[in-house]
Amino acid sequence: MASQYVDMVMGQVVARNPGETEFHQAVREVAESVQVVIDKNPEFATMKVLERIVEPERQIMFRIPWVDDHGQVQINRGFRVEFNSAIGPYKGGLRFHPSVYLGIIKFLGFEQIFKNALTTTPIGGGKGGSDFDPKGKSNNEVMRFCQSFMNELFRHIGEDTDVPAGDIGVGGREIGYMFGQYKKLTNTFTGVLTGKGLEWGGSLVRTEATGYGLVYFVTRMLQDKGATWKGKKVVVSGSGNVAIYATQKVHELGAKVIAMSDSNGYIVDEAGINLNTVKRIKEVERGRIREYVDEHRTAQYVEGWQGIWTVPCDIALPSATQNEIDETAAKSLVKNKCMVVAEGANMPSTPEAIEVLQQNHVAFGPAKAANAGGVATSALEMCQNSMRLSWTFEEVDKRLNMIMNAIYDQCTAAAEAYGVKGDLVAGANIAGFLKVAKAMMAQGIV
Ligand code: NDP
Repeated sequence: MASQYVDMVMGQVVARNPGETEFHQAVREVAESVQVVIDKNPEFATMKVLERIVEPERQIMFRIPWVDDHGQVQINRGFRVEFNSAIGPYKGGLRFHPSVYLGIIKFLGFEQIFKNALTTTPIGGGKGGSDFDPKGKSNNEVMRFCQSFMNELFRHIGEDTDVPAGDIGVGGREIGYMFGQYKKLTNTFTGVLTGKGLEWGGSLVRTEATGYGLVYFVTRMLQDKGATWKGKKVVVSGSGNVAIYATQKVHELGAKVIAMSDSNGYIVDEAGINLNTVKRIKEVERGRIREYVDEHRTAQYVEGWQGIWTVPCDIALPSATQNEIDETAAKSLVKNKCMVVAEGANMPSTPEAIEVLQQNHVAFGPAKAANAGGVATSALEMCQNSMRLSWTFEEVDKRLNMIMNAIYDQCTAAAEAYGVKGDLVAGANIAGFLKVAKAMMAQGIV
């Protein structure tokens, strides 16, 4: 009966959201995992909790006109999907990338509901962004774009309503320009965005949090295999915020990252990636990863990002974008005896890839759980903003570590309770769903 019910819900989702393939993919994974929950708790079906959860509470699309450095008028499209507020204000990042359309924002917003529930902090799920491409734009162009974006977004967000943050293409610079415009439009100084600069309400560790949190999560996965980080070879895709700080923590713990990438290609440095070089190229010069080999003779550059998964490693941390590990890539990882794959990016593995990895006993840490450290630390930033206080680096890092451990415990306990012991994908979906579903039941049909 449950299977028929989930099929029926999926049929509705596909029919009502045509062409939004990433959104369908994200919903299908959760719906399949929570079949067992609905079997045990038929009241969730009666109250149509799943049908309600797959429908955003509100979705906003808007025009973003701006003027480039040549005096030409440019028009982009902006999105904010306020998906679910059952357990707290909408919370989730903004993505600026030319591939952004409603289906991407909805998949990210949907995932965010359950991820945020797992963090143990009181935040609902949302996501937003634009098809604007910050690459190759001057600082002034990025500023004018961010101001125009906020000219519409400001009326929909607020410290107790919806609190956006960064994601692909949105880092400290963009958050700064958007915060400045929000402040000007509303004449308020509130914690309406997270990822702020340390001088104006930001939290220590927020920049590092997703990467560090990912590594804390993998530490628990390794422990379950009776292993540690010492001496492990690690491949990290991407070279943005998540990838850089995951690499930093991996190196601190005695393992070696030997490959990183960007959307053009990847570098392999068997001597261990020199993170200072990567940080300078990507964070300061906003350059390309291929420039790394100009300074490091031990390294080689390969054009095309997909090939990174053929590099033999013990641990793989996909930290670039969605669907970057497909079935073929997963088979390469298995062939090369990779023992752990944990997702720094959102939905970087296709369903076929996850099946290959799990069938071959590669420990698999899903994004909702493994990369939740970023949003968890954003929640800590909101907390500090409300109290008008700043905690030390050690204090925030300790809380982040505790949260990642709590997430791991929730996933393993939920998986065991529902008869799928060791399956962290199912465990994360079930634990996240249960928390939100119970809150929705308590709050009536709204
Ligand atoms: P950044 O913009 O800082 O970095 C993104 C990196 O991924 C860049 O190296 C980029 O290369 C690469 N990349 C982007 N798109 C593609 C693509 N289509 N193919 C190959 N490589 C690509 O973003 P983040 O590090 O913040 O985000 C990375 C992932 O982590 C995303 O999935 C995001 O949703 C997820 N995430 C981020 C969190 C955060 O706190 N920042 C929190 C939780 C999840 P290039 O420079 O060439 O574009």
